Amino acid sequence: MYIFKSKEELQKHLAAFSKGKTIGFTPTMGALHLGHMHLIEQSNLKCDISICSIFVNPTQFNNPNDLAKYPNTLTTDLEMLENVKCDIVYNPPVNDLYVKGEKAKSYDFGSLTTILEGEFRPGHFNGMATIIQKLLNIINPTIAFFGQKDLQQLYIVKNLAKQMKSDTYIEGVETVRGKSGLAKSSRNKLLSENAKKEASLIYNCLNYCENNKAIGVTKLKSHIQKEFLKNENFTLEYAEFVALKTMLPIKDWEAVNQSAVCISAYHSGVRLIDNIIL
Ligand code: AMP
Repeated sequence: MYIFKSKEELQKHLAAFSKGKTIGFTPTMGALHLGHMHLIEQSNLKCDISICSIFVNPTQFNNPNDLAKYPNTLTTDLEMLENVKCDIVYNPPVNDLYVKGEKAKSYDFGSLTTILEGEFRPGHFNGMATIIQKLLNIINPTIAFFGQKDLQQLYIVKNLAKQMKSDTYIEGVETVRGKSGLAKSSRNKLLSENAKKEASLIYNCLNYCENNKAIGVTKLKSHIQKEFLKNENFTLEYAEFVALKTMLPIKDWEAVNQSAVCISAYHSGVRLIDNIIL
């Protein structure tokens, strides 16, 4: 496995060794887990060369505290990537991707950014798109892999690739969960064992929606709100039913073919998000 700390080294290597080969790219912020590994496995299956980037992107953190406590487990990350047979890791310092003082670009993603993470994390998607645009330009992958766990991000990146007129295909990959249903997340590392157990409430609520679709959006939403009120360690930030592709809120199923229920909640100060496509 090659590890590159600068884009020049990475691009030099790709120019020499990737001719005629397909490149699969998985961007991450490290603190890797089985969800990330699943993305790399998909990349290995579908492409000749798999590249994973590990870069905690400062411009997508609207909360400096969240950035400061973001977990860093580089040594284990590299071992996991070696084990899953990732070919190349790009792990640059901030100044390889941003000039000093550089801010996020401003994008127009229309309805995709008006609610959910767009509403509760102002500036987050501009920061995310800024770094993804840079990485796609540096690597020019055949396919880039993104988790459905960050559903809104997935649709925004698809839109970004279109705006960039990029040849890269943006592939969504299913969410990997633990036995209790809790979605794998780097932030789970910040939860106590008891908090992890309680956090399965998020999946239980999503699952309830899937199994009780017939009772309608309004009743499902109030079921979720009631469940979260029962546990004082949890603060529900949003429980929203949205149309896939536009990410606009829906009040009933009739208007759309495919929808999703998305939840964001804080448990013991840790922000967790998850969703299910209905
Ligand atoms: P992050 O390191 O959190 O920025 O995530 C990097 C990529 O991994 C994103 O495309 C995420 O959507 C994806 N990802 C995170 N958690 C999971 C999971 N549990 N299952 C599948 N993909 C995930």
